[in-house]
Amino acid sequence: MERRQSLKWLFGLSALPLFSADPARAVDRAGPSLRKSNAEWASLLPPPAYRVLFEEDTERPGTSPLNREKRDGTFVCAACYLPLFDSTKKYESGTGWPSFWQPLPDAVGTRTDFKILYPRTEYHCTRCGGHQGHVFDDGPQPTGKRYCNNGVALKFVARADKLPELRT
Ligand SMILES: [Zn+2]
Repeated sequence: MERRQSLKWLFGLSALPLFSADPARAVDRAGPSLRKSNAEWASLLPPPAYRVLFEEDTERPGTSPLNREKRDGTFVCAACYLPLFDSTKKYESGTGWPSFWQPLPDAVGTRTDFKILYPRTEYHCTRCGGHQGHVFDDGPQPTGKRYCNNGVALKFVARADKLPELRT
């Protein structure tokens, strides 16, 4: 009886969530819903896009044609095609990278990185985990956020065009 009780206790413990419930981070904790190895992504994407999305490289500022993209439309993840930003939230930050003050709901997850000396908030596509850029607190109102995105990690789809099917 005592053994059975302790087994029950053990199983009860393993059913407990490992982290406190926080709906905003639920997607991140579960991990990307589209999982591919880096080798698979490397075979699917042009090298510059692969290096940014899955090796967290940063493109040289001023190099992306999306800096000058002013049309109405949607910016989707260049890896899995999940819509990440709407053109109505894009602005000219003067940094040389496409910048937005708000992502689409649940589209990006964040994580602190220390790739340079001070901590920065990295953000990535919640669906495939592909790295997009870093978010800073010097953006315009109403959010005050600046999502500084690598252009090569995005594809622009004009409003009149059909959004691509999500990559599987
Ligand atoms: Zn993605």
